[in-house]
Amino acid sequence: MSGAERALASIDEGAIERNCRRLLDLTDGSVELCAVVKADGYGHGAAAAAAAALRGGATWLAVATAGEAVALRDEGLDGRVLVMGALTNADLEAAVGADADVVVWTRELAQAASRLRGARMHVKLDTGMGRLGTKDAELARALLDGPVAGVMTHFATADEEGDELFGEQLERFGDFVAGLDEELVVHAANSAATFRDPAAHFDMVRCGIAIYGLDPFGSDPSERGIEPALRLDSWVAALRRFEAGDGAGYGRRWRAPEPTWVATVPIGYGDGWRRGLSNDCDVLIGGRRHPVVGTVSMDNITVDVGPEPAVAVGDPVTLIGSQGEERILAEEVARRLGTINYEVTCGLSPRVRRLHRR
Ligand SMILES: *Cc1c(COP(=O)(O)O)cnc(C)c1O
Repeated sequence: MSGAERALASIDEGAIERNCRRLLDLTDGSVELCAVVKADGYGHGAAAAAAAALRGGATWLAVATAGEAVALRDEGLDGRVLVMGALTNADLEAAVGADADVVVWTRELAQAASRLRGARMHVKLDTGMGRLGTKDAELARALLDGPVAGVMTHFATADEEGDELFGEQLERFGDFVAGLDEELVVHAANSAATFRDPAAHFDMVRCGIAIYGLDPFGSDPSERGIEPALRLDSWVAALRRFEAGDGAGYGRRWRAPEPTWVATVPIGYGDGWRRGLSNDCDVLIGGRRHPVVGTVSMDNITVDVGPEPAVAVGDPVTLIGSQGEERILAEEVARRLGTINYEVTCGLSPRVRRLHRR
């Protein structure tokens, strides 16, 4: 990238394929992989991520909204699609119209869905997430009397190793599904649960974060045999000499303690490079880490490249990804923001073009 555009997110589809294979390797041969591509594939591009996941062995796709299911079909993706989110009657119609499976947990929802031709429902039990699904096992059992394709639950704390709720949820769900019709697809595990406990795999695992090579536990993804699919690059648009005391950016939140050079890089919170990273993140230029100094503005950041920089206008700047031996993970950016890697990639705005490479 040599100044052709402000900022670019490059997505390695091969990495998504390999991550899917890695997840399938953790499961026994009969378990299916449902690749979760909601929120535009966690910012990676839903259609491309979905296609890569299917090449990597996924047999189902999952999204949160009816619109996301319709969009996948418009992109020519076939195969099973599960819409996991809450749906209005209009959404239900759109989802079933797109030949997607939907999730139900009340009589009203189940009735509305069963009235639609070709509907396939998944009954959701709330075993402790406290969000969607029913806590009433009797009701859940009653809902099975309909066009039901699957039974599911969702873990609240699978990413918190050692937490007790995970085991309790697993037990409640295990009790519920014991002795159910063999035809039903039973599924519970997100990425963290897939890594954590084979007992949570059932017939299918629903993995999102890990297919993108992001670690559900917030550490280094390579420790779990997955690789980040996304890198984020920009470039040095300006380079200027600062005297001691000169300020960079809005509010002069940083002043040069001694003479130095400061690079201006055209990416900011309008691109999803959050303002909370002001004076608190690094970028890579010429294979070395340099600190972002001053306030992140909507369109630019400023970077202290030192008194004798080996940096020139036009040089590539890596915000997520590696240059030579140095590497910045989305997990590092998340830690600095006090958030999770999910939010870092989901937050990249549409202004950042996604470039997909196989
Ligand atoms: C988002 C989501 C997933 C995927 O979770 P990851 O942590 O990204 O693997 C699975 N199931 C449900 C119901 C979800 O909402």
